[in-house]
Amino acid sequence: MSKREFQTEVSQLLQLIVHSLYSHPEIFLRELVSNSSDALDKLRHLTLTDDAYKSVPFEPRIDLTLDEESKTLVIADTGIGMNEEDLVAHLGTIARSGTKNFLSQLTGEAKRDSNLIGQFGVGFYSAFMVADTVEVVSRKAGEDKAWRWTSDGRTGFEIEPAEREEPGTTVLLHLNEEGAQYANSHRLQQIVKKYSNHIAFPIFLTFDKSEWNEEKKESEKQRVTEQVNAASALWRRPKSELTDEDYKELYKSVSGDWEDPLFWFHTKAEGSLEYTTLFFVPAKAPLDLYQAEYKVGVKLYVKRVFILDDAKELLPQYLRFVRGIIDSEDLPLNVSREILQQNRVLTSIRTASVKKILAELKNIATNQPELYLRFITEYNRPMKEGLHNDYANREALLDLVRFKSTKVEGLTSLADVKSRMPEGQKSIYYITGGAESLLRTSPLLEIYKRKDYEVLILDDDIDEIVFSGVDTYGEIELKSVNKASTSEDLTDENEPDQSEALKPLLDKLKAKLGDRVKDVRASVRLADSPSCIVSNEEEPSLKMQQMLRAMGQSELPASKPTLEINPDHEIVKKLLLRSDDEVMDDAAWLLFDQALLMEGVALQDPATFVKRVNRILSLSV
Ligand code: ADP
Ligand code: MG
Repeated sequence: MSKREFQTEVSQLLQLIVHSLYSHPEIFLRELVSNSSDALDKLRHLTLTDDAYKSVPFEPRIDLTLDEESKTLVIADTGIGMNEEDLVAHLGTIARSGTKNFLSQLTGEAKRDSNLIGQFGVGFYSAFMVADTVEVVSRKAGEDKAWRWTSDGRTGFEIEPAEREEPGTTVLLHLNEEGAQYANSHRLQQIVKKYSNHIAFPIFLTFDKSEWNEEKKESEKQRVTEQVNAASALWRRPKSELTDEDYKELYKSVSGDWEDPLFWFHTKAEGSLEYTTLFFVPAKAPLDLYQAEYKVGVKLYVKRVFILDDAKELLPQYLRFVRGIIDSEDLPLNVSREILQQNRVLTSIRTASVKKILAELKNIATNQPELYLRFITEYNRPMKEGLHNDYANREALLDLVRFKSTKVEGLTSLADVKSRMPEGQKSIYYITGGAESLLRTSPLLEIYKRKDYEVLILDDDIDEIVFSGVDTYGEIELKSVNKASTSEDLTDENEPDQSEALKPLLDKLKAKLGDRVKDVRASVRLADSPSCIVSNEEEPSLKMQQMLRAMGQSELPASKPTLEINPDHEIVKKLLLRSDDEVMDDAAWLLFDQALLMEGVALQDPATFVKRVNRILSLSV
């Protein structure tokens, strides 16, 4: 017998499971059953596609055996099984680096969320919530030897040779105090129905059933074996036969989520391609949504046979929060990951699925605005990623994303913004480059306020990148108010052009600021502020440049902003009359620096800024 230690991460995870996740220990059964189901899927796949396994018999079943007396529960399957190496690799370490990352990030309250276990595929260890010893006896299909893995879930595990007549895996739980409640056949049936009803394979329960004996006039116990689950690929049944409860149950079993889904889209396509898709949207965005190694939520089946559950090509990346099933009639069973990427059938299914999902979302947005709000509160950001990446569906996506704006509380759609446009407003405007509070008080908004034009507040850090690539909404141009050229369509023909009168001052200011600015010019966009900064076409905003530098992009060419001066502002009017050089010097830099501050850009030389402020202050006190 060899004794081995758990990988450090496993020990951490076990600590976490045993100490923090007691709220729903019943999920241990869902996890073990789904592992058995995965193992059966894998073996079926091999027997259908790999000649070496053609002769291996495939008699899929999952057997739960309960011994109430000794408080033991056995979960056995006729699946792919594990050899010695597999046992060490799969039950002694955490193979997925995503799970490691996740563990290191997990702190505080999040630890108590049992949801995480299933979501991150660390399911097997949940057995230690209910058992103080777990034994796994397994024999890999195609091999003769069997192995026993034993652990108390504390420091390590032992492995020794064992006997098993057929390939497959048997998990034996010695139930602990907490687990004793599951030494009850009713309870087990209930849990299997709740989580595993639609597992495609039959699940049997063997237990002591009390039955009334008419002759003896007393109830007596009998050992019986009964099938517990429905074992149907529910998504292949017609919609009309399915209830909301059916969908919710299936969702929970495919996603490992606790909560009901927000909604789902079930589609059966017939015609040149035949397939069924069932997509669910989780009520809460999956926790790994923004991790590079997110878990794919859509499983691929071919003619009800499970093929893959980690193919990132099934849906575009921005829809990675979608959970569910794609079941195709036309793909070959032995379709490989490499083939998938350029498979025409799959490409068509994917294209149609995206269209379908976006159309259904639009439908919900129109007909169930409250539900849609719940959706977009969770998923606005991935939908914006879609705007950036999915050119073919840009129009649809533009109708789905939502915005903060100067005119409404909460979120608004572009369609609504368009419908509110007053006469004379030619474009839809937005502002980017910082936190919401900063954007809302930006001097750049003053003219729009005066004209009663709405401005979208794009405060998400991906907004500037996403929307610099979106030029129009239908026929209407989308324009950033941060850009120098955007004021062109704001000038009022009736207003006199003041740049001539201002020119001497502008020239002086420009001379003072030297090569820190591209230009100094009269502004049409300011009302209350004396100055503002705008960026030049095709250049990222100052704030964005600051961010890119912070992220290590030192190559960025230094770009110069344009300083705009408000001709109607008192300071500017007074400055026009001054000729003393020192005041002009301070004024130039203060007008520039305050505009930078309002943009949320850090000053290069705060000390000099303060000196100037104090000099000006001392003139007036
Ligand atoms: P996941 O199922 O998400 O991979 P688990 O912790 O539930 O994570 O299981 C870890 C691994 O152990 C599985 O990926 C699988 O390789 C192996 N395994 C667990 N149970 C079984 C089983 N009944 N038959 C074969 N392999 C299994
Ligand atoms: Mg699992």
